[in-house]
Amino acid sequence: MKYDYLIVGAGLFGAVFACEARKKGKKCLVIDRREHIGGNIYTEEQAGIQVHRYGAHIFHTSNEKVWNYVNQHARFNRYTNSPVANYKGELYSMPFNMYTFNRMWGVVTPAEARERIRQRVEESRIEEPRNLEEQAISLVGRDIYEKLVKGYTEKQWGKAATELPAFIIRRLPVRFTYDNNYFNDLYQGIPIGGYTAMIASMLEGVEVRLGEDFLADRAAYLAMADKVVYTGMIDAYFDYCFGELAYRSLRFETEVLDTDNFQGNAVINYTDRETPYTRIIEHKHFEFGIQEKTVVTREYPAAWKKGDEPYYPVNDEKNTLLYERYRELAEKEKRVIFGGRLGQYKYYDMDDVVEAALGCVAAECP
Ligand SMILES: Cc1cc2nc3c(=O)[nH]c(=O)nc-3n(C[C@H](O)[C@H](O)[C@H](O)COP(=O)(O)OP(=O)(O)OC[C@H]3O[C@@H](n4cnc5c(N)ncnc54)[C@H](O)[C@@H]3O)c2cc1C
Repeated sequence: MKYDYLIVGAGLFGAVFACEARKKGKKCLVIDRREHIGGNIYTEEQAGIQVHRYGAHIFHTSNEKVWNYVNQHARFNRYTNSPVANYKGELYSMPFNMYTFNRMWGVVTPAEARERIRQRVEESRIEEPRNLEEQAISLVGRDIYEKLVKGYTEKQWGKAATELPAFIIRRLPVRFTYDNNYFNDLYQGIPIGGYTAMIASMLEGVEVRLGEDFLADRAAYLAMADKVVYTGMIDAYFDYCFGELAYRSLRFETEVLDTDNFQGNAVINYTDRETPYTRIIEHKHFEFGIQEKTVVTREYPAAWKKGDEPYYPVNDEKNTLLYERYRELAEKEKRVIFGGRLGQYKYYDMDDVVEAALGCVAAECP
C-alpha cells in the first residue's frame, strides 16, 4: 500500500481530514473528479471578484473549536448575512423582524407586532396543519405567508405549498428586534481571498490529483491505500443497488456586469411565484468589493436526475429509510469511511462538516 489514506473528494470534509491526518504523519492522497479543489465551497476570481460557483456560502458557527480551526487557514472578514426579500418590488428584511413588520403593517413596537401576528394566526383557525401552506399560516398568518413564504417555497420544491408536507417548515424564525442579521451564531464571516485559498491552505503538503473519478476504477484505487475516506454519493458507491436517493438541484446563471453596484446587497430573494429564480447573488458584497464591475448569479431551483449536481438531500421518510439501508451496507465496508454531505446524505452546514471531519480524524489517528 502506497498511502495510509486515499481521500475521495477535495471538498471541506476531505481537506480537513487530509490536513489533520498529514499532521499525524499519515501519507494521504486526495483525488477529486472535478478539475478544482474545494468541492461546493469553491470560489474563483472573475473581474477581480471571488465568485461562489456552487451557491453563496457564508461561514457561521457558535462552535469555538471550529471557528479557531478555520481561522488557522484563513482570515475572515466581518460580513454579516442580511438578505432582502423582493416581492414584486416591495422590499422586506429577512429573517422576519421588526423592519419586516413595520413594512408589512406599519407597526413600530414589538408588542404591536406580536399582537398583529396573534390576530392573523387566530383568524386562520388552523389547529392541525395538513400541509406546508397551513403550517406556515398557523405560524405567521396569511399575509406574511402569501408575500414572503409561498412563492419562494413553491419555486424551491417545484410543487404547490398545499402539496408539500407540513414538517418542512417546523418553525419560521421571527424576531421582535430591529436586527437584520440572518444568523444567531456567535461568529460569522467570509474568508478574505475566497474559500479556495482556505482549502488550499488545508491541503498544503498533501498530494492532490484532480479530474480523477474513484468509481471509474475503484479496485485500483482501493488497492492504493490502507483506508479510504469517501465523500461522494453513498448510493453511487454501492452502484445504486437499492435505488437512487433523491436530491433537489440548482442551476446557476452567472454574468459579469459593467456597473459597480447592481443591487446593493449580496443576497436578494425573489419571493413571488412568477420570477423564475429564487435569488440573485452579487458576489462583491461578500467582500465589500470596490471593483469597477460586478458579478451576479441567478439561482434557479431544479429537479434532480442522475448525473445532475446533487445539492440538497430530500430527507423525507422514503429517502431516510433508503439511506438507512445504504448506511448498513457502509458499516460492513471496514476499510472505507463515509463522510461529508454526500457520503452521509445529510444537509450539513460548513461548521458541521469541519466538526465531523475533526471528530473522524481524531478517532482514526489518535
Ligand atoms: C447552494 C448551497 C449553499 C450553501 N450555503 C452554505 C452556507 O451559506 N453556509 C454553510 O455553512 N453551508 C452552506 N452550504 C453547505 C456546504 O456547501 C457544505 O457543508 C459543504 O460543501 C460540504 O462539504 P463536503 O466536503 O461534505 O462535500 P462537497 O463539497 O460536495 O465535496 C465532495 C467532493 O467529492 C467529489 N467527489 C464526489 N464523488 C467523487 C468520486 N467518485 N471521485 C472523486 N471525487 C468525487 C466531488 O467532486 C466534491 O468535490 C450550502 C450548500 C448548498 C448546496
